[in-house]
Amino acid sequence: MINTNGKNLIEETDIDKIRLIYSFTILGTIALYTFSFIHFIGKEYSIALFEFIVATGAVLNLILLKVSDGKLIRVAENFILIGMIILLTGIIIHGGIANTAIYWIYTYPLLSFFLKGNRVGLFWNITLIVVIVILAVLNKLNIVPIPYSPDEIRQALSAYVVIMVLAYVFESALLSSYEKIKKLATTDPLTGAFNRYQLFKKLEEEIERSKRYGNHLSLIMFDIDNFKSINDTYGHNIGDQVLKITIDTIKNHIRKTDTLGRFGGEEFMIICPGINDEGARNIAEKIRKLVKDIKVEGIPEITISVGVAEYFPDESITDFIKKADIALYSAKKKGKNRVEIYSSENVCLIPVRKEKQLA
Ligand code: GH3
Ligand code: MG
Ligand code: MG
Repeated sequence: MINTNGKNLIEETDIDKIRLIYSFTILGTIALYTFSFIHFIGKEYSIALFEFIVATGAVLNLILLKVSDGKLIRVAENFILIGMIILLTGIIIHGGIANTAIYWIYTYPLLSFFLKGNRVGLFWNITLIVVIVILAVLNKLNIVPIPYSPDEIRQALSAYVVIMVLAYVFESALLSSYEKIKKLATTDPLTGAFNRYQLFKKLEEEIERSKRYGNHLSLIMFDIDNFKSINDTYGHNIGDQVLKITIDTIKNHIRKTDTLGRFGGEEFMIICPGINDEGARNIAEKIRKLVKDIKVEGIPEITISVGVAEYFPDESITDFIKKADIALYSAKKKGKNRVEIYSSENVCLIPVRKEKQLA
């Protein structure tokens, strides 16, 4: 999949994780401060202090996430998972209120798989199991006494493994449905190129990036020549096949950072970050030749006309697309199967009616 996601932009799935971190931390810290208070009243100062420190750490973690505007989400996730292991170790050693601390381990599988996905999540779960086994061994050796019998620990760990496996299976199913739904929502089913919604989203992101870092950004727009007559002569199914093979061919010859999407009908766009219009013209020439060489039985030739435009600072997305469209229109006007770069001369080629439509 062609991907232009930058490291600085928060992914959509991260928004759900941020929500979870907020609610989990708020509920968890309320509970911890309460337990800390109860232990303090009961004169159990060391566990009270321990709970107070962990709860305060969790609050600081939340502040870090908030101040960084969600950018430090990976750090916050790791702090939560490490913090939970420290907390669970501490309260297992203490036993917790009425010796119930060990039950809190069952929150860990869901939390870790949700935050880290199933593979890294599994690592965190195994880490917690290892910590509990070490505690059990230290207990047996009378080095660190814990208020749980070996049987209780064994029972708790068996139940933990069952919950962990269920959470793992559940998370895997969730991830695969998410991937399927994401594909359906963002790509064009016929060609596999990004759909119009995703194309515009990517273009907005790239414009933002270009504004922020001053990088070049170019847009290539192309349209299959005489496609109506391909449909009329060979039928809609062959027309579909031509579209699919054309896009498959182009997809395999553009950079990973470029975004190829369906703009509408048989018009497509390629967003080329970091490339000026001359560079984009070379790419456009390359794909024009590639398409010309495609062989579909019975069809003498498939050709495309291509328009190229470079982004100018502070231009609107509509104006940017309009420039590529004007260049494409000019390529059609000048005889098709060619590449044109946007220039002010090209604008003159557009009849008044067409220009009004584009505005
Ligand atoms: P030009 O060279 O000027 O581009 O002429 P053209 O015949 O290609 O004209 P135009 O670009 O307007 O043609 C669009 C046609 O593409 C009309 C529409 O029926 C057809 N089309 C759009 N989407 C699909 C599709 O998914 N499958 C098929 N088979 N045809 C499609
Ligand atoms: Mg066409
Ligand atoms: Mg068209």
